[in-house]
Amino acid sequence: MYYIDPHLHMVSRTTDDYETLARMGCVAISEPAFWAGFDRGSVDGFRDYFRQLTEVEPKRAAQFGIKHFTWLCINAKEAENVELSREVLAMIPEFLDCDNVLGIGEIGLNRNTPNEATIFQEHVQLAVEHDQQILIHTPHLEDKFQGTRMILDMLGDHSGIDRSRVLVDHVEEHTVKAVLDAGFWAGMTLYPVTKCTPARAVDIIEMVGSERLCVNSAGDWGPSKPTAVPDLVMEMRRRGHAESLIRKIVYENPYTFFSQSKKFELRDPASRNGFDV
Ligand SMILES: [Zn+2]
Repeated sequence: MYYIDPHLHMVSRTTDDYETLARMGCVAISEPAFWAGFDRGSVDGFRDYFRQLTEVEPKRAAQFGIKHFTWLCINAKEAENVELSREVLAMIPEFLDCDNVLGIGEIGLNRNTPNEATIFQEHVQLAVEHDQQILIHTPHLEDKFQGTRMILDMLGDHSGIDRSRVLVDHVEEHTVKAVLDAGFWAGMTLYPVTKCTPARAVDIIEMVGSERLCVNSAGDWGPSKPTAVPDLVMEMRRRGHAESLIRKIVYENPYTFFSQSKKFELRDPASRNGFDV
């Protein structure tokens, strides 16, 4: 089945991973900016990273027929450095017109600190001023519930936000309803260590339905599996779910969310004429 992975950090993966993803049906990837495995020392480190995301990765993906899209920000972990964060925020507009940039992300919280919250709100303001979609990282494990609550409260305080253009990622059983009920999109991350397994993600789909819900692998530097979305497809088939429901989750939902950006263009491989879902 063709699918889109809406959250996959390909800068940390090999070219062989691109080939495997293509073989498994991946036709498009969106890659949010994140922590690089180390704290960067200057705004120029981020400028080079954004060039990698906007110039290098699209070419690497295209070799295997995969469309590559991206999101820009300084991640929550490095946002603890407020001075550097503000330099990065001031530099981001240099890249917003690039062909594959869908918006601002993945912004959010890591340890739910005041500095992280300040920089989160400044990113939201930047997104609103530049009419950008937003992709949000929620903290893991014991910080997730409170961090998600804080993020929803901060978004609720901002009058300029169109909730249908915001995706809140890494939701789990205890946070998914609050995100969907508030009118945002939600993403489930399939991950071998923290976050969701494919079986838990299917449980959640069975609980809350398929509206405004996406799944991703978040493949990154750590123990992660870039082909986790096909694992979810297999689990849904094993439980007897309809192919149309599976396709909605792994292809049509991310397609619909991303299509709110005029930069997003994807020829549907299953359609003879292209562009129709
Ligand atoms: Zn991520």
